Amino acid sequence: MTETPDPVSPHDLSPGVPVSARITLFGFDVVPADARIEARSTGWRARRASMALAAGLLVAPAVGLVPPHAPWALGALGMGLFMARRWWAEAHTLHFLEGACPRCGEGVSLSSPVRLRHPHPISCPSCHYESALSVDL
Ligand SMILES: [Zn+2]
Repeated sequence: MTETPDPVSPHDLSPGVPVSARITLFGFDVVPADARIEARSTGWRARRASMALAAGLLVAPAVGLVPPHAPWALGALGMGLFMARRWWAEAHTLHFLEGACPRCGEGVSLSSPVRLRHPHPISCPSCHYESALSVDL
């Protein structure tokens, strides 16, 4: 007879290291939060940025065949540059977040890993106010 495994919370499964974090909203008390972030190396960022640039360069001639030609090609190049810049700017990835909205107390979490910004905007699913997540690096 097999034992059922202990339920594992998503907190334990998400990659990255746990860091202390705070959710702030002007005029309300600071709320502590659990967060897991992963530092991205220069090589990881450069690899993804160059893949985005290469994708833009490959797609531009193909979409440039469609009239009116230039806007599509420029758009593909611009999108490649935009995505490359985003990948290059991703110094840290936020993998997990669990906390509460400072205004209404509703739980806030993360649906998918995102680029960590400083401060990182967090939208409350209940009251829709936008708080800021601050992480100690
Ligand atoms: Zn709220």
